[in-house]
Amino acid sequence: MLFQRTLARETKVGGRGIHSGKKVELTLIPANSDTGIVFVRTDLPERKEIPAHALRVSATENNTGIGEKNYVIHTIEHLLSALYALGIDNLLIEINGPEVPIMDGSAAPFIYVLKEAGLTHLSQHKKFLVVKKELEVKLQDKWAVISPCDHLIIESEVVFPHPLIKRQKMSFQFSPTNYIREISRARTFGFFKDVDMLKRKGLARGGSLDNAIVLDDFKVMNSEGLRFPNEFIRHKILDVVGDMSLLGHPLLGRMKTFRSGHLVHNQLCRKILSDPSNYEIISAISLPKTVEEDLTMLDLHPSLA
Ligand SMILES: [Zn+2]
Repeated sequence: MLFQRTLARETKVGGRGIHSGKKVELTLIPANSDTGIVFVRTDLPERKEIPAHALRVSATENNTGIGEKNYVIHTIEHLLSALYALGIDNLLIEINGPEVPIMDGSAAPFIYVLKEAGLTHLSQHKKFLVVKKELEVKLQDKWAVISPCDHLIIESEVVFPHPLIKRQKMSFQFSPTNYIREISRARTFGFFKDVDMLKRKGLARGGSLDNAIVLDDFKVMNSEGLRFPNEFIRHKILDVVGDMSLLGHPLLGRMKTFRSGHLVHNQLCRKILSDPSNYEIISAISLPKTVEEDLTMLDLHPSLA
């Protein structure tokens, strides 16, 4: 039976934000059943709790940010993706700055830190959000659609007019093991020609070849090259997992996305949540056996890969 999870002990992660360039420290603190993932800015006067929830998303340009006024936390998507992958339902995340550290641009460093801290079961069963109808969001040529399914399946396609990307397509069936093997190491990416424009907008100020794949007109500028030939589409799926985790429960549905970004993902979450007949929240007790097998493959012991 699947029980809710949190970390076995408190742990810390430090680094720089890719957009702000600011050095920050995260403290990840175990939380009780049904708390969800909650952020708190510890560098501001009031201790406001900001739940990681789709309806609290306030920024979607080149990152996903939650909160209001100056009580905002940016670039939460890779950390949330890692938490989702390990089935961590409840956690308090204290942060002493405006943006989650980018680490190496992927979710792998977060997976490492979380597994080092170890996971533990809580007393309540896990709850899942099961999609009941086909729902679509379309913004010009970008779209995402979700339909009922017993698993979480994500089929994404990206299109960039660059010789190394062109069109990349991938179908991914979520399980913790598949995610760690196929998705977690894929880094975020950007184009060298966009760097000045992004910096003028206050973005990418902490960006470097250490925390993103950077492409010039022909090739990858990072000396180590790519981690996978199709690292770009793998990172898109990493982002989809992080953004859809903001529904607040593990998701069962088949998603298809085309050229989608954080805005499309957030609009799809909001569309799902806008009508209670679009979905059902079910307890792990009533989950089909096959789904449970998908999700329990990851052992709780931190030393196991
Ligand atoms: Zn990303």
